[in-house]
Amino acid sequence: MHSGERPYRCSDCRKDFSVLSSLKNHQRLHIRQRPYPCPHCEYRCTQLGHLKMHVASAHTGVFRHNCDLCDKGFHAPGLLRDHVQKKHQET
Ligand SMILES: [Zn+2]
Ligand SMILES: [Zn+2]
Ligand SMILES: [Zn+2]
Repeated sequence: MHSGERPYRCSDCRKDFSVLSSLKNHQRLHIRQRPYPCPHCEYRCTQLGHLKMHVASAHTGVFRHNCDLCDKGFHAPGLLRDHVQKKHQET
């Protein structure tokens, strides 16, 4: 295996890997570094306090603008419109 191809990229640090198992192995490091995952999105962080701040600023309050096509909710009508255009409309 000396092709030099590394098709598997870590989304956290952009490191490239030639085999998927190496990537998975590597990503465990990030999970150990940032053991607090946000239950609402992909965000992860090192300290529980940071996670709470993230959740408070990004996810608190009632999502008053809910997408009819999936169960996502948004704080502002503009965000919902954006979401519908990007996710549910093809043009
Ligand atoms: Zn990485
Ligand atoms: Zn989040
Ligand atoms: Zn949607």
